[in-house]
Formats: sequence, structure tokens, C-alpha cells
Amino acid sequence: MSGFQIAKASRWVVADARVLQGAEFARVDMLIDADRIAALAPAGSQDFGETPRLPLAGRIVLPPFVDAHTHLDKGHIWRRAPNRDGQFRTAIETVAADRAAHWSAADVAARMEFSLSCAYARGTRAVRTHLDSLGAQARISFPVFAQMRARWKGRIELQASPLFGVDMMFEPGQLETIEEMVAEYGSGLVGAVTYMIPQLQDSLDALFALAERRGWNLDFHVDETADPEARTLGVVAETAIRRKFPGKILVGHCCSLARQDDDTRARVIDKVTQAGLSVVSLPMCNMFLQDRQPGRTPRWRGVTALHELKAAGVNTMIASDNTRDPFYAYGDMDMLEVWREGVRILHLDYPFADWAGAVAENPARALGVAPPRLAVGEPADFILTQARGFTELFSRPQSDRVVVRDGVALTAPAPSYADLDSLEGLAP
Ligand SMILES: [Zn+2]
Repeated sequence: MSGFQIAKASRWVVADARVLQGAEFARVDMLIDADRIAALAPAGSQDFGETPRLPLAGRIVLPPFVDAHTHLDKGHIWRRAPNRDGQFRTAIETVAADRAAHWSAADVAARMEFSLSCAYARGTRAVRTHLDSLGAQARISFPVFAQMRARWKGRIELQASPLFGVDMMFEPGQLETIEEMVAEYGSGLVGAVTYMIPQLQDSLDALFALAERRGWNLDFHVDETADPEARTLGVVAETAIRRKFPGKILVGHCCSLARQDDDTRARVIDKVTQAGLSVVSLPMCNMFLQDRQPGRTPRWRGVTALHELKAAGVNTMIASDNTRDPFYAYGDMDMLEVWREGVRILHLDYPFADWAGAVAENPARALGVAPPRLAVGEPADFILTQARGFTELFSRPQSDRVVVRDGVALTAPAPSYADLDSLEGLAP
């Protein structure tokens, strides 16, 4: 428990915890009654009698995380499918070959289970994953996803969005397969990767039309490139405005927005605001893949203009993206790592508290799941840390955090990599 002695009683008090309230930390006592937060009061202001207490002495308690953009189907294939030069194109090719050779239901299920076990142990309560959905793979991965969603119910709320390039939109059977799989196994959510191709608008309209007909939401991979001429973000926003799309739209990456001139960027951000898009930045994956050239030191960090988007009123957030696959060699489905790295890469500080919503509240809004909150009547779900301020929080990996779910401290650690050894090609 690393210094935290969690009370075994069903009623207990988290005494003198530091919790964020708006832009400030407040020191509070929290009464936990079974699986709920029963009272929340300024530290020392209420007498909870003989109730067992966990004295925190001003250590930070966080609500659980929401991870809005992941790839559970790709996760942890690195050992059998390493990216030999770290290039984006190599990542696409390497994943395609691995998918064709290995992605059976059992293989996808085992790697998903591993990633979800990591996320749960780190304090994440909801996850959206993209599922590679070209041809036959959609028929393998979506049923596996539905099994995982049922298996993890009550621990992690799971959503899935199909992923394929807009250039494949009109391949025979593609849209029909997507509609069938999402209707049967999905989350009322469709998506694609947008490219600057002649049929971009037609492809987008076809997907929007499907979402409108079914009452589904949308999620796009957008402009994941340094090329300032990649301008599909504006097209997605214009399409949503023109069609008066009634659902939620989340767009990821948007890297090229940071590379455009100020006027262009301002115009695009204006459209994004008008269209009500939410934007998720993937700082760790972007810094890994963007601006990588052999023998040349990177000159930019690969991330979108997240501060400008937030200042314009856009719902902004950060997320994990890939985990130990050809798109990102590292990662552990740990949103505290994403937040820590986000602070460094995107300057999510001054003030830190301004961005605390980017790992919980904002993604919850984008996904349409209940926002994780430390409040009376809410589930007793939270993360106890040893940190008393933001630089203590972000200077260490917080490996000694204790995740409490429904009033009980989790004891299972993140799984061992050896658990993957039985999968084909993943033994050391
Ligand atoms: Zn992604």
C-alpha cells in the first residue's frame, strides 16, 4: 500500500485530502459509506466520531481518468512487429502485415485484456478504442470488443469506433460491414481516417449520412501529419455545420493545424468551434512519430494547437493513443503518464489546474459518459497519491498511487509482460 493504510470498514474517512475545486486545491475530509462518497467537508470541520480514518496530510486525491482515444486491438504487438525506423509509413505497413498474419479473435482478446488490466490498475474508468475495420478484420474485432465490454462492465466503460481510411469508404461491402458490426456489437459510433483525396467530401457525406440515419456519433483521425496542406479538419467541421449534424463528433491528432499560418489556423479553429467538435491531442504518439527523420534531430513536438483551440472554447483533451505497437513503442494505458507528458510536451501548466479537465471531465463529455467527480452521492472512485502539489505529482511516475473503486482499494498490479508470451510471436 506504499504508506496508505486503507480502512477495512465499510464506513471510513479520507481525512485532510487535497482535492481540486475549480482552479484551487481545497483540503477536505471525505466520508466513504460502502461504495459511495457520503460526505465532503472542509478538513476538520465535521466530527465523524469513531469512524476509521486514513490521514492524508494534504496529499492529492484525483478522480478516475477517461481515456478518449486508444487502439486496444493494436496494443503490445511490438515484439513481433517492431517499427524498424520509427516512420509513420513503416508503422502503417508493419501493422497491416501483423494484422493479416496474427489478429485472430484470441490474439486480439488477449492483448485487449492486457491493456484494460493496465488501464484499470492505473485508475482509468472509461476507454474509447478504435478498431481497425478493413474487410474481414471488422468481423473479428467487433465481436471480441463486445465480449470485452461485457467482461469489464462496472470496472471500465468501453466504447469502440471503427477505423479505416476514407479512401476505402466506397470499396464493395465496406460501409455495409461497418453498419452491421456497429449495430450488432458497437457503441453507436462510427469513424474513419481523413485524407486530402478527391473523394474526401463524398466519403465524409456517406459516413455522416450513416450516422444521421442511425442516430450515431462520429470520431475521426484527422491530419496526423506535419504537412500544412493537410486541411481535412476544416472539411469535417464544414460538413458538420452544413448538415446540422445532431450527434457528438470527436477529432484526434489535428497535427497540421500547428503548422499552418496564423490566419488559416484561426479560420479553421473558428469552424471547429462553430461545429462543436471536441479535439483530442495524443502528445506521446505525436512526439514519437512526427518530425522523425534519420540522422536529424526533431525540430517540433508534433502536437496540435491545443491552447488556441481551448481558448476558442473547444472541448479539448489528451489521451493515450497507441501502446507498444509500431505507432508508439512505449505506453502503459496510464493517463497519469499521459497527463505528466502532456504537461511537458504541450505546456499544460501555468496554471496546471486549467488542464485537469483534459484527462477526466472533458473526455467524459466528448464520450457521453458520466463525468468522474469527487462529490457527495458519487461512487467512491478515486486515486490517492503521495503528492501535495502539481510539481510533486508530475515529477514522479506515481507508481505508489492507490486506486480506490467503489470504496475498495485495488490490489492487483498491472499485468506482467510475461502474460503475453503464450501469444504467437510475443515470447521473448
Ligand atoms: Zn489513433
